[in-house]
Amino acid sequence: MRWFQYIHDLLHLFFPVLCKCCGRELRDGEVLICTHCHSDLPYTDFHIYLANPLARQLWGRVPINASMALLYFMKMSNVQHLIHHIKYKRELDLGIKMGNLMGLRIRSSPYYYQQDFIIPIPLHPKKLKKRGYNQSALLATGIAEILEIPTREDLLIRIKERQSQTFKNRFERFNDLMEVFAVPENEELKGKTVLLVDDVFTTGATIEACAVKLLERGVGKINIATLAFVK
Ligand SMILES: [Zn+2]
Repeated sequence: MRWFQYIHDLLHLFFPVLCKCCGRELRDGEVLICTHCHSDLPYTDFHIYLANPLARQLWGRVPINASMALLYFMKMSNVQHLIHHIKYKRELDLGIKMGNLMGLRIRSSPYYYQQDFIIPIPLHPKKLKKRGYNQSALLATGIAEILEIPTREDLLIRIKERQSQTFKNRFERFNDLMEVFAVPENEELKGKTVLLVDDVFTTGATIEACAVKLLERGVGKINIATLAFVK
């Protein structure tokens, strides 16, 4: 046995590298997620259906050109583990890798074309400082690597922290969110197609508010990509 193989195996023994989904030990050649989880994740295939469930949720609320989510979200599932790692455990590589998977699907979709900017849903600067990174920006970076278009974090900003949403109906939540986000006046946005990126699509209120703000500033078309979709 070569000495480096020996050291590699020894390291593995004491510091096993675990799958971010199921927690089992990764084998040689597997990166971040094991082969089993990779093939077993609940992929939505929304990118090949224009009238997919995510798109339908936004019908009548805001005009969206194309939308997709990579995975179905369920509580206590591997997808929840994945998101937990990306959001709270500083798994930056995992966020970018999931972004890559989103990018590959977007690239193969007939509905996403000639996009100018990728825009992640921003965190409030205070929260960004505390967490150290924006999980949606990681996904956006991963998508940008595949699509080769720029990610812009200056075009859509968060100016207020969100208050508790309990006991609020959808209309009240939407109104609150309209004060949370802002799009600084920018000639670059006029007539452009942007890809809005978020981690989890639940009610769609965040995406809706951001899309409305961008359209008000003259954006031509909005496409959407999220990592997960809550059924
Ligand atoms: Zn696994």
